[in-house]
Amino acid sequence: MNSMQNEICIYRGSHQIGGCATEISTGNHRIVIDFGANLPDNEDVMTDEELAETVFDGRPCEAVLFTHYHGDHIGLYKKIPQDIPLYIGAVAKEILEILTERLDYLPDGLGKGLPRIQGMNCYTPAHKMMFGDIRITPFFVDHSALDSYLFLIETGGKKILFTGDFREHGIAGKHDILERMVQEYIGEVDILITEGTMLSRIDEARENSIQTEDDLKKCARKLFRTNKESVILVSSTNFDSIMEFYHALPWGMGFVCDAYQAKLILAAMEGKGKYYRKYQPELIHGKPRMLCIVGDMEGLGAKQNCCRADFSILKNKGFTMLVRENKPVFKAIMKKYMTDPLVIYSKWAGYLKEKHANPKIHEFIGSHRMKILHTSGHAYVKTLEKLIRLTNPTTIIPMHTECADAFGEIPAFAPYRDRIKVLQDKEGYVF
Ligand SMILES: [Zn+2]
Repeated sequence: MNSMQNEICIYRGSHQIGGCATEISTGNHRIVIDFGANLPDNEDVMTDEELAETVFDGRPCEAVLFTHYHGDHIGLYKKIPQDIPLYIGAVAKEILEILTERLDYLPDGLGKGLPRIQGMNCYTPAHKMMFGDIRITPFFVDHSALDSYLFLIETGGKKILFTGDFREHGIAGKHDILERMVQEYIGEVDILITEGTMLSRIDEARENSIQTEDDLKKCARKLFRTNKESVILVSSTNFDSIMEFYHALPWGMGFVCDAYQAKLILAAMEGKGKYYRKYQPELIHGKPRMLCIVGDMEGLGAKQNCCRADFSILKNKGFTMLVRENKPVFKAIMKKYMTDPLVIYSKWAGYLKEKHANPKIHEFIGSHRMKILHTSGHAYVKTLEKLIRLTNPTTIIPMHTECADAFGEIPAFAPYRDRIKVLQDKEGYVF
């Protein structure tokens, strides 16, 4: 870590999903990629406090680069010394500002987060940035967090591709964009540092009839046609799925959410509508579909295509409502206005099962009818294999996976078995 060599160090995240922090250092400079909060079930690794003290121990650091806004990649940003510049995508930053405004009401002893978020620098996709002798080129990548990035890192004559969390079966991954991007801008690399979340979920992925966000839309449309009243349990920032639900809703039915969720959707549409048709409004008779707001309007109105949810009208037309299990207002509305709502569950199925069971989600679903419609935010084996084939790395370093040690045993990776280098947390890899 204090050598004069070029080194990669995964401080945390070499053998688990989330909570990750990775350092790229040369003799003179270093950058850190992601600084995530540990997920609750991850034990026997450095605590968040230990991680912060180890990574930011007074040594200079040119920048912390966040791949995306998920808490297991950005959650510890308040613990980063104030003089170190932070970087994130421009739309991701706007989303974070909306999230943080709300989170700042809940004191965590670390002070308000909004000023630090507002002070973050933004990437220009495919534009190089220099941090001393480390050159970074960020590229858009598909993930369940909007505006996620992967990085091409060049230093000391070596090329490293750092994937962060990614996939290619969502809205931003269509039309083989990953393959075309790698061929056009990246080419072959020396080292590939790749996420491997799905390697412990291969059976789960195989059993899921919904492989892509497109599949999700098709299934949602069927459910909306046969269920006049439904609620959708979905992460408020999983915009690919939210936009698929939004477009899948038949004409005449109402799309209901609260002002917080509406502000997030509007920011996502504003930021990404120019790139992806799915992020443009659904036009009904030439006019954008209204978002029907429950609770406080928080300043939203006709100008933003929002109106107050009027359930005397919505009950006749039929409607769906985006809900969050930790907000009681949704349960109250279901009780008051809905007869037999279908719960569409659109989060990781693991939260419904024993090991990772989430009691709040169980309580919310209760005895309602429930249907799971969810697609993963992470790359399937075939996508990982494709990326390895296209970049032809000499060394493959897995991270963000529970299966780092078994990476080579996946049949699709067999040809690359002897290129795999499994690192331990805090172990430096000289390149
Ligand atoms: Zn993520």
